[in-house]
Amino acid sequence: MITVLSGGVGAARMLRALRTHIPAEDLSAIVNVGDDLVLHGLTICPDLDTITYTLTGRNNEVLGWGLQGESWRVMEQLGHLGGANWFGLGDLDLATHLYRSQRLAEGATKTAVTGELAQRLGLDIALWPVSDDPVATTFDSEIGPLSFQEYFVRHHHQVAVRAVHFAGAESATLTTQTQRALSTAERIIIAPSNPLISIGPMLAIAGLREELQRRRQDVVAVSPIIAGAALKGPADRLLGELGYEVSCVGVAQYYEGLIGTLVIDEVDADLADRVAATGCAVRVTTTIMSDASHAAALVRAVLA
Ligand code: GDP
Ligand code: CA
Repeated sequence: MITVLSGGVGAARMLRALRTHIPAEDLSAIVNVGDDLVLHGLTICPDLDTITYTLTGRNNEVLGWGLQGESWRVMEQLGHLGGANWFGLGDLDLATHLYRSQRLAEGATKTAVTGELAQRLGLDIALWPVSDDPVATTFDSEIGPLSFQEYFVRHHHQVAVRAVHFAGAESATLTTQTQRALSTAERIIIAPSNPLISIGPMLAIAGLREELQRRRQDVVAVSPIIAGAALKGPADRLLGELGYEVSCVGVAQYYEGLIGTLVIDEVDADLADRVAATGCAVRVTTTIMSDASHAAALVRAVLA
């Protein structure tokens, strides 16, 4: 079993690449729930949905999120009614949130509902929310406290952050499925997801950090920071604002003691010694999954 600690887009791309090289039954993803929100009475799980949509070939490559062939009639009408429409929910995507919310209201766990949606949509890998308990990422920012989606979507992550919190993480527990996916994994991969807000919320739940420390030699992370910048999103800016170096060295510092190996990009080869000085092995390869051959090179590096 290969188990991948996953955020959204970066993780979905890593999982899609891995899936072309290893059988579905040997691949599982443990997924961040810190971005999850309740809006219009609906429970929305962006990272779980991004992975499900991407691995079943449904993701909207133009937007970078949501579904292909999407329409927005509900949002338009909601706008006419004066409802909150700053968080885009397409007409087809809404069906996912309606289904999930109804099942949760009936008492199903997030783990169970995720499995049901995955099965109906034809996802063939195991997808596990890290916890069935609520964990909410929040920010202390220059304009005051912000929820995750206020920061990410409403303010387009363009405000300075002083601290990140994971509300609920102190009392949340890992699910038995998450624990099993970790204990049965011969390799644990930390996807090139945002360390601070995609992987960080999971590390804040009791047991995960300890398990990675214990299994450290089997843990391989991929840097989402290449040449000092994230390909997309605020990983670079948040690293700097929260006191880490904005480079793959900062990623290595954030994961210090938790990983046996960090995979960094060729363009950062000159930083390999400084990454190694944090106490992990370093693999240098092409890490941008721009096409199948580049993705294959990264897969070889994480599985080597
Ligand atoms: P989100 O939850 O949708 O924001 O996505 P993640 O946290 O999973 O991933 C966001 C990170 O993925 C960004 O910091 C990107 O730099 C990184 N990323 C996206 N595509 C790639 C890629 O092809 N290679 C690498 N190394 N990083 C990537
Ligand atoms: Ca996310």
